[in-house]
Amino acid sequence: MCGASMKEMPNVLWLEEIKKEDIISVGGKGASLGEMTSLGLPVPKAFVVTAQAFRRFLVETGIEDTLFRKLERLDVDDNGALESVSREVQDIVLSVEIPDQIREAIIDAYARMGENGEVVAVRSSATAEDLPEASFAGQQETFLNVLGNDDLLDAVQRCWASLYGARAIYYRAKQGFDDRGVNIAVVVQELIRSEKSGVMFTSHPVTGEPLTIVEGSWGLGEAVVSGSVSPDNYVFDLRSERVVDRLIAEKEIMIVPEGENGTKVVKLTPEQRTAPVLSDEEVARLATLGKIAEEHYGVPQDVEWAIVGNEIFILQSRPITTIRRPEIPRAGAEPAPEPAAALGVVLLEGQGASPGIASGRVVIVRDVRDTSTIKDGDILVTKMTNPDMVPAMRRVKAIVTDEGGMTCHAAIVSRELGTPAVVGTKKATKILQDGQVITVDGEKGTIYEGAVEAPAPAAPAAVAVAAPAPVITGTLVKVNVSLPEAAKRAAATGADGVGLLRIEHLILGLNKTPGWYVEHGEEEKFISELYSGIKTVLDAFPGKSVWVRTLDAPTDEFRNMEGGEVEPVEHNPMLGWRGIRRDLRSPEQFRMQVEAFKRLWAAGYSNLGVMFPLVNHPAEFVQARAMMKEWGVNVENVTLGVMIEVPSSAILIEDFIKAGIKFASFGTNDLIQYTLAIDRNNEHVADMYEPEHPAVLRLIDYAIKACREHGVECSICGQAGSDPDMVAWLVGHGITSVSANIDAVPRIREAVARKERQILLDAARRNA
Ligand code: PEP
Ligand code: MG
Repeated sequence: MCGASMKEMPNVLWLEEIKKEDIISVGGKGASLGEMTSLGLPVPKAFVVTAQAFRRFLVETGIEDTLFRKLERLDVDDNGALESVSREVQDIVLSVEIPDQIREAIIDAYARMGENGEVVAVRSSATAEDLPEASFAGQQETFLNVLGNDDLLDAVQRCWASLYGARAIYYRAKQGFDDRGVNIAVVVQELIRSEKSGVMFTSHPVTGEPLTIVEGSWGLGEAVVSGSVSPDNYVFDLRSERVVDRLIAEKEIMIVPEGENGTKVVKLTPEQRTAPVLSDEEVARLATLGKIAEEHYGVPQDVEWAIVGNEIFILQSRPITTIRRPEIPRAGAEPAPEPAAALGVVLLEGQGASPGIASGRVVIVRDVRDTSTIKDGDILVTKMTNPDMVPAMRRVKAIVTDEGGMTCHAAIVSRELGTPAVVGTKKATKILQDGQVITVDGEKGTIYEGAVEAPAPAAPAAVAVAAPAPVITGTLVKVNVSLPEAAKRAAATGADGVGLLRIEHLILGLNKTPGWYVEHGEEEKFISELYSGIKTVLDAFPGKSVWVRTLDAPTDEFRNMEGGEVEPVEHNPMLGWRGIRRDLRSPEQFRMQVEAFKRLWAAGYSNLGVMFPLVNHPAEFVQARAMMKEWGVNVENVTLGVMIEVPSSAILIEDFIKAGIKFASFGTNDLIQYTLAIDRNNEHVADMYEPEHPAVLRLIDYAIKACREHGVECSICGQAGSDPDMVAWLVGHGITSVSANIDAVPRIREAVARKERQILLDAARRNA
């Protein structure tokens, strides 16, 4: 894959020589350091052993074929095989000599590091690492305090071998990367003997608010990154330019360089333990540097920093990976323990590192070998998680640690996996016991005794995120919600309403299909669950419209639930029995939903609107409305609308308007797949899934124009509504409102405001 540039690309590149396009040669970390250097950020001196050097090493030593053949035959879900193939492949990489030319290039560059650069840190930089779509955080080796040619060459070779560590192979396979296409570069960098160090998120990692979160502790940064110490936590508000929150942790240890070639853990004195690591002035300086990186890259960054004396260094920067929703029922998961009626006693508190609520049985893991006892659906409790545990973290329902902060590896990976996590509880492994059933609230950072059915009532902590400065936009900026427990957080963004409430998650969370409730005469239970879930969201948005979408779960999502055995097996569930077409033919299922809506309208929630998914003909809308009328809904007085997810509904928009829709909302996730014939869940064609395809844009433009002409609200609630560029385009084409994911609301509001001002300015200039 690097054939074309193989001849020209040198074995070694200095940071000053690196351009953004060199990512394939120097990896995410190397490219980012090179770019930061060109920005003038204080990056310690470094050179990169390029991916081409690694490739030449594989080819010239003749090990390439053997190695990839072994990996291709491997089933990564077979733990034993994964471990042994990983060991074999790493042994192969370590057992051969580095070819002379490469060896000389490295030694030569090392000699030119200068007098401060003799002691270096050697870090892997996989060419798929740190890319926006996939955080491989900490998956490959880092060696600190490396001194002398032999140790340097050894560290470089070990970094290469670490590309084939069990966790790295597993993670790549699960994220769909082909081993043959993943290379590794190695950064060799002057070691900064940091007196204090840590990480920062240039924007809030959960909400995306303009709050820089800085975590710091004494000594080298490995303590924070690996989670072996609970760091101080500072929150800097970029709007008011002040430190608005600080939590001084009890820091027990620090990691310092040791002897000639390593590091050691040192216990801190009682004074150091509780002393703040950073002054407000230092936090402000760090946040300013973080902002420079964020503005340059255009997305919030996860930055590693160090301080020596008065000097700040930026060690690395990479995009923050976004958080996925926790999937409550997991395929193949064991049935959840019987839920208790009410919330249990609070057992422990820590930092909510990855949102979501999960109940399950505790498995205490003292060593990575203990992870073999973990079953799907358990809760992993450990002193400090580390990258070796990723395969186990993938299977568990929640993660609880004694140590670590919001930005440690465990927190990052948990968020990416969508697994609730609470870190830094200090004593989980002492207080909790194997087999004990607990509930983990990864948003509030609370551990309850027993299993709880309902989400914890929203505590003020859920709205602790400062509301953004009010930016008034002509185009309404709404928010998407799937889980009622996210309602407060969604409302705290200041959004102008809910543009999509997906009720599947409410229902899937019950772990029984709607059909089961009908079959067992338990309709009332279903209706009241739905009623209270939707009510929670309505209560969080008084006076603002909340569009609740009727059920839209493909049959395969129901299969693992109780009652799922009678779901039809479809060749293509995406094109099958889902959305409004299913409700129209399953009146009992539709009626239960309508009953919940009716009760909410009767209770005075006139801000509730109902949205029908996957309509492809106005007749479906007409029929759905007629059924609601028959069941006693005053359909003239309530807000009913449709999603535009099928090209036919965009093409027939005028007819939908004539049929009486009050609003239409683009479900671009589906609209794109049905316009381009690209299955949104199929990784083989994922690169062809093109939101800005001209055909998609033309359909959208056509439908917006028709809605505007007839005064019908037109919105978007697909993922494209969380993309600032797409949103600017939509505003330019006249959309009435947009609805974004919770974390995207601030940046979408900004994109809308900017575009609107640009439109006004252009008009003013034209008229001047
Ligand atoms: C969409 O299709 O864009 C949408 C919002 O619906 P879902 O992702 O639930 O199919
Ligand atoms: Mg959809």
